[in-house]
Amino acid sequence: MSDKYQGFVQSPIGKLFVKNLGLPNPVELERYVEGAPLVDGTVVVGGDGRLADGLAAVLDGLGIASTDTTEEGASYKGLVFDATGITSSSDLVRLQEFFGPLMRRLDTCARLVVLGTEPSATDSPAERVAQRALEGFTRSLGKEAGRGAAVQLVYVTPGAEAAVESTLAFLLSPKSAYVSGQVIRIGATGTTDAVSVQDWERPLAGKIALVTGASRGIGEQIARVLHRDGATVIGVDVPQAASELQGLMKELNGDFLTLDITGKDAPQRIAHHVKEKHGGVDVVVHNAGITRDKKLANMAEDRWSSVIAVNLTAPERITRELLDQGAINDNGRIVGVASIAGIAGNLGQTNYAASKAGVIGLVDALAGELTDGITVNAVAPGFIETKMTAAVPFATREVGRRLNAMSQGGQPVDVAETIAWYANPGSTAVNGNVVRVCGQMMLGA
Ligand code: NAD
Repeated sequence: MSDKYQGFVQSPIGKLFVKNLGLPNPVELERYVEGAPLVDGTVVVGGDGRLADGLAAVLDGLGIASTDTTEEGASYKGLVFDATGITSSSDLVRLQEFFGPLMRRLDTCARLVVLGTEPSATDSPAERVAQRALEGFTRSLGKEAGRGAAVQLVYVTPGAEAAVESTLAFLLSPKSAYVSGQVIRIGATGTTDAVSVQDWERPLAGKIALVTGASRGIGEQIARVLHRDGATVIGVDVPQAASELQGLMKELNGDFLTLDITGKDAPQRIAHHVKEKHGGVDVVVHNAGITRDKKLANMAEDRWSSVIAVNLTAPERITRELLDQGAINDNGRIVGVASIAGIAGNLGQTNYAASKAGVIGLVDALAGELTDGITVNAVAPGFIETKMTAAVPFATREVGRRLNAMSQGGQPVDVAETIAWYANPGSTAVNGNVVRVCGQMMLGA
């Protein structure tokens, strides 16, 4: 649905109001266009840790122009700082020295990334303290950067240096338009290995991706983006959505399965279908979800049970069945769709928030168990413009839209691009993460 306020602030009178009343000023976020270069500008690389030497080559391999010297009068589209060399609190001043002078020289929608060492993998208490401090720095910089800029912290476990490529490709490009203030871990659980990507335009060529709730909203965009990246998509949705689902899958040259994921035999039917028809599955996205909001005091049992059944029990059962049957191929991907409600809680959503926190629990429970390069991660969307959020009352909707560092709602494609990054074959060392796609919402962490 359209954001009328965002249109208004672009008008001459709107600009006057914003300036004089200090109103939120959402900029139009840049989003990735198929076939365009990942970064439309130059990225400045700084820092002197264990990643610094290889960064220019990684960016070059992605077709991203970078420099380690800044020029008078030039502006920049991205900044990457290797902070793994920071081993004490007094070293933290290097962040201020690098970022401070460059903050006024950023292009619109600039992408900023700090690379650090997972605090629990450091060599000394002083280093652990300093690395932990990076989190406060990046989260605050995300809130003050403005003009559509995003700031992330990526903790790279020692040994996983070669595995940063797919994550930098995502975080430095407009694919991460609505992701900011996040802490991402590479190599913290599972493997620290890197898998090289043959074709960055179609990284999922030859892969099979199953997406539940694919007929509309966020699920439809996930299907579209995974298809763009080369995957054959199997869309799953309820029989009532069959015609939309079939139409979309026809357009994407995909396959479909109409069933209720809470059905007793749904996991077996899905496993049977992917094995018999496709020889297995590479990417499983548990997107289907419902809300049945009511304060707990007024909540009937069926509102509670249906939300838990669709959002949590079904992903649990389907994942277990696919794993037990060996239907997920090596280097496969399992992706959950949580919600910021599952992190911060939300009035009237005890059922929904419990189900979405449970999705995060599913990631935690599985991350250490998976083998053969299979990963499990989740996205936690904030306010995304869909039919689900269009139904929210006006005042609540405006609060959801504006209470984030970007002063606007996200688009379904923002969630889809984040899932495509997890799905990328180069993201084998990205395991056990929960990344919020929320424009750095003020609710929760
Ligand atoms: P939506 O209602 O537009 O789409 C959900 C899809 O899931 C529909 O196609 C529906 O038919 C399908 N579905 C529901 N129950 C099913 C079942 N039992 N079996 C098979 N399919 C079923 O919702 P959306 O806004 O696109 O949300 C997609 C996901 O993102 C959900 O998990 C939702 O909780 C999550 N999410 C959305 C937002 C947001 O702002 N829109 C925020 C946070 C999280």
